[in-house]
Amino acid sequence: MTVFIIGHKFHFETENLCRMFFPNSEIKLQYEHSEIQGDNVFTAMQSVDGKTKLFASASIEGKTSESTKYIDVYTDTDAEYTLALCLFEVLREITGYTPAWGMLTGVRPSKLMNKLIDELGEEKAKEYFTDKLLVSPEKTQLACFVAEVQKPIVADNKPNSFSLYISIPFCPSRCSYCSFVSHSITGSNAKKLYKPYLDLLKKELEITAMYAKENDLRLESVYFGGGTPGILSAEESKTLINTIKDNFDMTFCSEFTFESGRADVTTAEKLLTLKECGVDRISINPQTFDDGVLEAIGRKHTAAQAVEAYNSAKETGFDCINMDLIAGLPGDSLEGFMKSIDTAIALKAENITVHSLALKRSSTLVARDNAELEQGTLASQMIDYANSALLNAGYVPYYMYRQSRCVGNLENVGWCLPGKECRYNIYMMEEIHTVLAVGAGAVTKLKAHGENYLERIFNYKYPYEYNSGFDTLMERKNRITAFYNTYN
Ligand code: SF4
Repeated sequence: MTVFIIGHKFHFETENLCRMFFPNSEIKLQYEHSEIQGDNVFTAMQSVDGKTKLFASASIEGKTSESTKYIDVYTDTDAEYTLALCLFEVLREITGYTPAWGMLTGVRPSKLMNKLIDELGEEKAKEYFTDKLLVSPEKTQLACFVAEVQKPIVADNKPNSFSLYISIPFCPSRCSYCSFVSHSITGSNAKKLYKPYLDLLKKELEITAMYAKENDLRLESVYFGGGTPGILSAEESKTLINTIKDNFDMTFCSEFTFESGRADVTTAEKLLTLKECGVDRISINPQTFDDGVLEAIGRKHTAAQAVEAYNSAKETGFDCINMDLIAGLPGDSLEGFMKSIDTAIALKAENITVHSLALKRSSTLVARDNAELEQGTLASQMIDYANSALLNAGYVPYYMYRQSRCVGNLENVGWCLPGKECRYNIYMMEEIHTVLAVGAGAVTKLKAHGENYLERIFNYKYPYEYNSGFDTLMERKNRITAFYNTYN
């Protein structure tokens, strides 16, 4: 599909909106007039008699539509919004599809809701969502609920607060829907990289702790994510956790999460070691409780093993266990998904995170647009069921985000029993404070307190680059102190 961008600079929003309606079409942006052939979207801005004219049209698979609007006073924000509205109307008419999140293309709806509530108050913030961004009343209410649950945790944040993220980019095997950089540990290359990677990770933790100390930062939460951190042996996790405890000031650290991940690597011995080391939140992620779907997505464990791992974590004494589930998995049905949600609720998992399947180009599984739209309708029904079942069971939504190429343009929501919010997820998703991140694929985000400014330091994406370029990477970490010298 060719998308024409004529006389304006809003190509980012234009492309995002087109992607929302046509998630897997190849989109080619064109900035000059030319003969229009094939499926196309045309957007333009021009001055006409002292007014600004915004225009969008689309011609897709024989269907056409167009929309024109004029605004009197030109500001970038007004023009961008009005052009987006023209385009939204056109694409909605052509496809007959109304996204539940309306024109909202951003990945952090609750962050925007929090900001609007601060600026306008709750009622006006909700009106902004429904009337201006055309978000459905249900999704508006959801974003507002999340903002409300987060309030006390956000208020607790200190100017020098930070969290620590540790990346373990290895998995026991690769799932078909995965677009993450994680390596299957069964490969000979991954096996060679693994031990040196852990040694360097230890070193990076020590260096990072030095910067935290130097800048008088206060550690609030620790999060081991992946990949599958549960792939670490009991001894390897102990070494890394002790490195953290020996080098960072843990006085104010109120949460320590370890994403064990998959049931096929979660053992009673590992759980006990984690508990003894002070981990207080564990994630065991079944994704579905349907064995057929598990097999279809390449997970090497059964639903019964996920329940066993969960029970084992409970017996070890963990009182905050998260379970991830995904709506829209290939081969899943509405009934199958409902059973998965009901099972997680019956287990009384303190946290249940409901994701909507996102298919990136790098996953083995890539949807076509038609399949995507069909799957989107089913995924919407699944998400609607999850939302009402979890609310009825006493869970509250405490964090949320959206991803590009998500089936049905839906959202991912973390639900919890009251008081069991994962603070790290809120800090990270709402970009409340600095996250110092270590390991391959990790991104350190430096947040200036009280300002809407974030600076990122990227680690190399792949373990082989991380291992070979470690010294260069550590030089980049100088930015931490430079940042705090500027913003303190
Ligand atoms: S366990 Fe998670 S990170 Fe690993 S391959 Fe599967 S989806 Fe990707």
